[in-house]
Amino acid sequence: MREYAIASIPADGIGPEVIAAGETVLKSLEKRLGDVTFNFQTFDWGSDHYKKHGVMMPADGLTTLKKFDAIYFGAVGAPDVPDHITLWGLRLPICQGFDQYANVRPTKILPGITPPLRNCGPGDLDWVIIRENSEGEYAGAGGRVHRGLPEEVGTEVAIFTRVGVTRVMRYAFKLAQSRPRKLLTVVTKSNAQRHGMVMWDEIAAEVAQEFPDVTWDKMLVDAMTVRMTLKPQSLDTIVATNLHADVLSDLAGALAGSLGVAPTANIDPERRFPSMFEPIHGSAFDITGKGIANPVASFWTAAQMLDHLGETDGAARLMRAVEKVTGAGILTPDVGGTANTKEVTDAVVDAIHSSN
Ligand code: ATP
Ligand code: MG
Repeated sequence: MREYAIASIPADGIGPEVIAAGETVLKSLEKRLGDVTFNFQTFDWGSDHYKKHGVMMPADGLTTLKKFDAIYFGAVGAPDVPDHITLWGLRLPICQGFDQYANVRPTKILPGITPPLRNCGPGDLDWVIIRENSEGEYAGAGGRVHRGLPEEVGTEVAIFTRVGVTRVMRYAFKLAQSRPRKLLTVVTKSNAQRHGMVMWDEIAAEVAQEFPDVTWDKMLVDAMTVRMTLKPQSLDTIVATNLHADVLSDLAGALAGSLGVAPTANIDPERRFPSMFEPIHGSAFDITGKGIANPVASFWTAAQMLDHLGETDGAARLMRAVEKVTGAGILTPDVGGTANTKEVTDAVVDAIHSSN
């Protein structure tokens, strides 16, 4: 029997709804597989915790999480808590504290989902975006002087290190190499940003030498949005900075039909610490409590978690079940259906049990 300790942090808004759905599906997979156990422990961290205790998670939060095999994360953010407190209070300390430097974001148009682009159908947009997750524009460097005065200046400094860029680049080339098309696009903005971005381009060329069988090219981030929209089939694996990939992966999620289907994995490739798996979407308070949140992103990220834990058979089974359900038109309203979260979840559980 293989046993995994999983820390669940459902957090805010629709987070608890989609994480509960994901746990239900993983428990049914556990029954179906017969030789795996997932032991979930839930932590009530997030905006409510902040309102009660002044912090999003306890000071020893990382020490607590360290003992787990993986972290299953919902969404964080509440209308009455400032965004930068939210972000720097929970997700980023975990990502940075556990050096989850590779943020892996697969996209694909799932069966049954009508994408907004006329030139795409099911199976298209089969991309993986790798977002540098430990430095860059979100390193937190910068400051403000003469606050509130006419001469006020604010700086937001992007920090790129040779170590940081090389390791994520190597991860991206390796991932591209493992995929059938062996195709990588490196995204920067090295025409306008002439220091760190030029270093990205140079390091890409250096790391490429280690992967002669990977075909790679470079794109400026602005041109990349055009290519993603007009020539989506020309792309496969994509690597970009923290900020650029943040923006591009929201676009990718929308092009695939909805943010509600887009998953992400925050990976420590060296496996020194637990990695963290979450839907890309935020807390979405506009639909919280209505029972209509799309749980597909949370299922897909659970499959990423299984893959990372070495449970590749379980991951493939889970994704087959999800695709069967979306293909049958059992969809939440964000992707044009009429089903609710529970109906989609029940259908995936049925598909897990009925498949061989
Ligand atoms: P954040 O501030 O973290 O970006 P948010 O509350 O703005 O969070 P987003 O994730 O950006 O939420 O999502 C934007 C909108 O997309 C939501 O308000 C919601 O209407 C829709 N949406 C997002 N996720 C889902 C989902 N899982 N199911 C259905 N609709 C969703
Ligand atoms: Mg948003």
